[in-house]
Amino acid sequence: MRLPGPRSGGGAVPRHTVVFFHAHPDDEVLLTGGTIARLAAEGHRVLIVTATDGEAGLTDREAARELGPVRHRELGRAADLLGCREVVRLGYPDSGMDEAAPRPGAFSRVPVEPVAARLAQLLVDARADVLCGYDAAGGYGHPDHRQVHRVARRAAEIAGVAVLLEATIDRRFLRAALVAARPFLPHDPQYRSQRLRAAFAAPGEITHTVSVGRYAAAKRLAMHAHASQAVGGDQERLLAWLLRLPPPAFRAVLGHEWFVQVGRRPSRVRSRALLDGVPPLQGPAVPGGDHPPIGG
Ligand SMILES: [Zn+2]
Repeated sequence: MRLPGPRSGGGAVPRHTVVFFHAHPDDEVLLTGGTIARLAAEGHRVLIVTATDGEAGLTDREAARELGPVRHRELGRAADLLGCREVVRLGYPDSGMDEAAPRPGAFSRVPVEPVAARLAQLLVDARADVLCGYDAAGGYGHPDHRQVHRVARRAAEIAGVAVLLEATIDRRFLRAALVAARPFLPHDPQYRSQRLRAAFAAPGEITHTVSVGRYAAAKRLAMHAHASQAVGGDQERLLAWLLRLPPPAFRAVLGHEWFVQVGRRPSRVRSRALLDGVPPLQGPAVPGGDHPPIGG
């Protein structure tokens, strides 16, 4: 199988630098994997920044012993498969889903300002044109995802990044997909429809529906890289379930990704590419390797 590769160097269009800020390893692929693969294939510079290593996530007994390092390695492999060569780890403790008992110093409890200042410095160093955070609901409401929303908003302000986008899912699409899939879904209460009433974003808020069907194979391989998140618990995990879908169903469920551009009024016709509406860069295309890699 041949995956779409990066555009061969020195094209006529100057490249943008897009930073995706995520809460836990595997969020980058589930919410934005196709968009990352598409931008990378189009020759743009893409960085993934993760707030936590996701060490409070569910997994099997073997991976649980050192889940943080395992998930960080999985993220590196997934990023590679998506064509993203720069991953930066902020290393805050994962809050876990239980809001009543957050871990000491957990990401969701850290004051926004110092974290935002850290991210802003990274944006300035990377000369980022575009930052992508999360919608105001924090997707399905995980405290770390809500914190990503707050930190990204503030960091974009401090760094003066031109365009701030927020990764989300079209709530109407998600509800319809869940109804269609109900007989086959793992019975995880997290995905019950009443919880989804206020999750992610309403269709009227969304500015971008990015088509990533062409990158579905890369997205699927990157999802496979997060093997620790396909196991554990009493019921089949969502990731394992998604990976069992035959390719046409996989493309139907995961072939689009949604974004809200902050400060832009949604119109009836949504943008189909992430950089629609992003001002073009001046000057010639930037040859590869001119930026010092950030993080590692
Ligand atoms: Zn997450």
